[in-house]
Amino acid sequence: MITMKISYNEKYKGKGLRRCQICGNSRALIRSYNLYLCRRCFREVAKDLGFEKL
Ligand SMILES: [Zn+2]
Repeated sequence: MITMKISYNEKYKGKGLRRCQICGNSRALIRSYNLYLCRRCFREVAKDLGFEKL
């Protein structure tokens, strides 16, 4: 399983698959600000980035 995760990350970097960088979900992906995160993770990260009003 760990190996799969590593290869997945490499694929992500190389081909730029459109998936959430945190949970791997491809639903409701937000590509704004070059974040590539799903809505859920974006909300959590947004707090740290200062997008609280979303
Ligand atoms: Zn996510």
